[in-house]
Amino acid sequence: MSHETDASGEAQARARAGGPGEAKPPGLKIDIVTIFPKMVEGPLAEGIVARAVVKGLLDIRVHDLRDFTTDRHRVVDDVPFGGGPGMVLKPDPLFAAVDRIREERGAPGAVILTSPDGERLTHAVAMRLRALDHLVILCGRYEGVDERVREHLATEAISIGDYVVSGGELPALVIVDAVARLVPGVVGDAASVAGDTFARDGLLDFPQYTRPAEFRGMSVPPVLLSGHHAEIEQWRREQALARTRRYRPDLLNE
Ligand code: SAH
Repeated sequence: MSHETDASGEAQARARAGGPGEAKPPGLKIDIVTIFPKMVEGPLAEGIVARAVVKGLLDIRVHDLRDFTTDRHRVVDDVPFGGGPGMVLKPDPLFAAVDRIREERGAPGAVILTSPDGERLTHAVAMRLRALDHLVILCGRYEGVDERVREHLATEAISIGDYVVSGGELPALVIVDAVARLVPGVVGDAASVAGDTFARDGLLDFPQYTRPAEFRGMSVPPVLLSGHHAEIEQWRREQALARTRRYRPDLLNE
């Protein structure tokens, strides 16, 4: 029996996304391969990503790596050749999983290995991945993944930052969320994504305030209450630049 699951009711999504004759929206197909499907299914079933699945903008499948083993005990790891601590994910189930995904879902635009030594995930990388239409994401575990996966199966490796987490599941979720936000329609207001940190001219976002205008003696910058749109726009631009200079001067030199 397959443990493959549709994230947050894909059947429902298909039903809503298009009856016959209705144009299919430009969506993004994502397949995640993991030994802990539940670790990714939960977060994918909430919030913006879940809504995008229901709207048919994202088509996400989670595959249990153990379904691609051939032994009775469904073993996915083994000791490292040459000795050393820990276990390594075996190549064969990962290759089999990607073979199956190719057969059932078509050739992916990228097979991404999550790895701390991969290319650092940035806004630019998320934009590039969004344009690929179909991503397969492989989640490592233990000491890592047999190097043949990286060399001959993955088309690239991506890191979410210079630290090590215990598995590729959280990195996969970070990649999915960052890329999904860039799919038109996923975030209700496109202006909101265009104005996000990094997206707008590579600057940090300007500071936001909401009601009350006066709170425990702390007030909101008066210009925001002025109703003067041009001045507000200018203030925001200045703030974005000032904050970038202060917190992330490296962004201005790129
Ligand atoms: N021994 C490895 C770390 C393995 S951590 C090393 O020193 O490089 C187990 C798995 O978690 C990795 O195979 C990878 O899939 C995932 N992982 C850990 N940190 C990550 C990061 N910063 N970015 C992306 N994936 C990461």
